[in-house]
Amino acid sequence: MNISEKSKGIIDSCRFCWMCRHICPIGNATGLERNTARARALGASLVVRGATKLKEISDNIYECTLCGACTNNCMTGWDPKVFIQELKTEIVLNGVAPDYIMGLIEKYQTTGNVYGVLACACLNDLVNNDSDVLFFAGQDAILKTPESVKNSIALLNKAGVKVSFGLDQDSSAAWWFLTGKTAETLSVATKTAEKLNQFKTVVVYDPVDYKLFLHEYKEWGIDITAKVIGFNEYLLSLIENGSLKVKNNGKAYSLQDNYAYARELDDTQTGRKLISKVGVVKDMLLIGKEANLAGQLIMAEYMPNVMTEVALNRWQNAINMDCKTIVTENPAEYLALKATTPDGYQVLSVEEMILENI
Ligand code: SF4
Ligand code: SF4
Repeated sequence: MNISEKSKGIIDSCRFCWMCRHICPIGNATGLERNTARARALGASLVVRGATKLKEISDNIYECTLCGACTNNCMTGWDPKVFIQELKTEIVLNGVAPDYIMGLIEKYQTTGNVYGVLACACLNDLVNNDSDVLFFAGQDAILKTPESVKNSIALLNKAGVKVSFGLDQDSSAAWWFLTGKTAETLSVATKTAEKLNQFKTVVVYDPVDYKLFLHEYKEWGIDITAKVIGFNEYLLSLIENGSLKVKNNGKAYSLQDNYAYARELDDTQTGRKLISKVGVVKDMLLIGKEANLAGQLIMAEYMPNVMTEVALNRWQNAINMDCKTIVTENPAEYLALKATTPDGYQVLSVEEMILENI
């Protein structure tokens, strides 16, 4: 199997403390021991040693969200996501991917996205190339939460910021998730970087895309010369410099820390600062770097029941602390929590929270 020495080292470094057993959102949802970082490493170890076939572990590799909760908590300081992504590349290149993954890849090849859907016609009027600030909504928002795109651009316009916007905004997050670092992933990323570099500033709505631009693109040697900034940071700067006027109504909001902001980009504060501009921060259980993932849209395509359970588990963390309004930072978690909202509770995206306080 063609995986790096780094991955082999990670696979073999576990100390069997089983901390990862309690923190994996998928393991917590399924109750299965195989859904832990360690169990995946054990499976990978068997493959590396020739004791089992790659195909035997391929389902389990695709049952990881890449949320990094295990990475954050592992006493060895190792990062299971590294070998998981390398294994995906091996799985796909060796033709042993599960049928449901091949189905998503084929859908992407035919339609340009894994969901096989078209962008909402309601976004057509927003397409323009008139500003040197690009609003990069990303594929998930464009295809799955078009209202978020409309609301976010409306909010930026209210602050006097005109933004360029296009319907073809693919960071390569889907290819990366499905196939790791393949030629297709790099090709999509390279084309996207060329588009971003036509602008002075790029405001990135989805933290998963933002993290990809800042981390993976750099690792892959793909240069982004435009100034790239996360949507939350950009909104906060507009409020702080007085361009966006908000009121503080004292309502309690609870942040659903997205893993990409909190764990990968080390930002657990911008979302909370935004809340404190319009209300009061009321934290639920497991926050910041310890936050539980609430949703992942690609996985919802092939394991919807488990992903519903993941969202319900996250709601339990809010219910236990009587947190009535959750504020999400990305489309996947917004949709997952929205679809499972208990009576008397509410989920808002960041822009919805700001809009209700203008
Ligand atoms: S937390 Fe790390 S060292 Fe402990 S069992 Fe999990 S993978 Fe192994
Ligand atoms: S990255 Fe997240 S989903 Fe994957 S094994 Fe670690 S905790 Fe579980």
